[in-house]
Amino acid sequence: MKELIYIVEDEPDIAALVQLHLEKTGFRHRWFQTAKAFFNGIEKSHPDLVILDLMLEDMDGLEICKNLRNDEKKKNIPIIMLTARAEEIDKILGLELGADDYVTKPFSPKELIARIKAILRRSQKQGTNSEIIVRIGEILAIDSEKFQVSVRGENIDLTTTEFKILEILSNHPGWVFSREKILDHIWGYDKAVIDRTVDVHIRHLREKLGDAGAFIKNIRGIGYKLEI
Ligand code: CA
Repeated sequence: MKELIYIVEDEPDIAALVQLHLEKTGFRHRWFQTAKAFFNGIEKSHPDLVILDLMLEDMDGLEICKNLRNDEKKKNIPIIMLTARAEEIDKILGLELGADDYVTKPFSPKELIARIKAILRRSQKQGTNSEIIVRIGEILAIDSEKFQVSVRGENIDLTTTEFKILEILSNHPGWVFSREKILDHIWGYDKAVIDRTVDVHIRHLREKLGDAGAFIKNIRGIGYKLEI
C-alpha cells in the first residue's frame, strides 16, 4: 500500500504541481481546496502526511496545524507547511505549533518530495532519526546513530547535551530555534534549567567545532540557527 498524502491548498495551479510530483513518485494523494473540505476528509481516512498551505481562504494554516496537534487521534500525522512567507519568526511559529517541516514558495518540487520522504522515514521509525547522517557543507558530518560528529573527517568529542543541540539545529538548517525550544529538546519540559544554559553549551560546542562552529549563528533576541 502506497502512502497517502493530503494536500491542503487553495491555489489549483500549485495543488496540480504538487499532485503531479506525488504521482510520479508513486504516492497516493488527495487535494482539498478549503480547510472545511480537509476536516471532512480527514474524518473519513487519515493520511500518512499532510502538505499544508499557510494562507487559505477559510482558515489560517497554522490554525489547522494547531487543531490537528490538539487532537489525540491526529496529533502524530506529519505536517509540512507550504508558504510564501519566509520570515524566520513564522518558521518558529510553525515549529512550535507542531509542523514537522517547512517549505517556502516558490519551491522546488524535487526538494518537497525529498522532505516528504525524509519525514515519512522518520515517522515510520517512530521519531528516531537513526540511519540519518547529516552533512553540512562537506566539512561537518553528524551521525545520529553512532552519536558521532566529525569536522573534515576528524572525530570531535562532544557531551550529550552539545550533541543534542547540534542535532536539533542540523536537522533543520536555516531554521531559527528559540532557547526555549532547544531546552525542550534536551531536557523535556524541565523549567528548572534557564535559557542562559543554552548559550553556555553553544559556546562550548562552537569551540569544539573549530571553524565549523561558525555555522551556528545567534539570532539576537530569538535564539540560534545553523546556516550553511
Ligand atoms: Ca494559499
